[in-house]
Amino acid sequence: MEAYISDIAAEGGVLTVSFSGCDFNCPSCNTPQLAEFQTGEQQDLRIVQASIADAAPTQIVFTGGEPLLQRQALLALLRWCREHTNARLIIDTNASKPAVIEELITEQLVDEFLIDVKAPRDAFDRATHAGTFFIPAEQVFAEFLRSLAILRDAQNRVTLSFTTLIVPGLLYTKEDVLAIAALLDGFDAEWTLKPFIGGVTLDRRLRGLHSPSEHFLDNLARAVRAAYPNLRIRVQSTADTVV
Ligand code: SF4
Repeated sequence: MEAYISDIAAEGGVLTVSFSGCDFNCPSCNTPQLAEFQTGEQQDLRIVQASIADAAPTQIVFTGGEPLLQRQALLALLRWCREHTNARLIIDTNASKPAVIEELITEQLVDEFLIDVKAPRDAFDRATHAGTFFIPAEQVFAEFLRSLAILRDAQNRVTLSFTTLIVPGLLYTKEDVLAIAALLDGFDAEWTLKPFIGGVTLDRRLRGLHSPSEHFLDNLARAVRAAYPNLRIRVQSTADTVV
């Protein structure tokens, strides 16, 4: 079996497997090279498995792009990892595929989900450009909500953490962040607000955009804490943000 995988990188005991292809087109995406399935990036899973065995990592992060899009290859790799390693298995996802998430949880193939919460309903299409002629953004958002419901039911079996990128002009108002807080209320999980950092972005018009200040993000977090005191929200500083 083959998978579209653009990169496998090891650092300090953590192996990161980056899948190509994504079902979203976030203007702020800083990995536009992973947005499409690129011809020539197909890798035999036996070669990927050999890389994992060589690295002997303590954690393996499956990211992208969107790893859940390549369901069969992902399942095969995770099953192999469970059988041949003791590594902690982590999925970094936009949570657009609830059926796959449910399958991974049922088979106990994942220890941790890192969920990228892009936007509340009203800002979802603006922040993701996920809607298409065939699948409107409302339907994609409804699938995301199904994923949240599945993860909520499973939160005593898997570790969860959420991140939201604060992008000036796209996703940055107190109303946006409070609407996300309403979706995440009741989860036993850390939620991190990350500042947009310029550089390479899918939409070239965002490349010169300034990052929001830490003070700006702190104010958003303060508003969330006032309205949802049980939410574990934190702010990632610009200095800690890797592009
Ligand atoms: S930022 Fe958006 S387009 Fe880029 S990989 Fe993540 S979900 Fe896909």
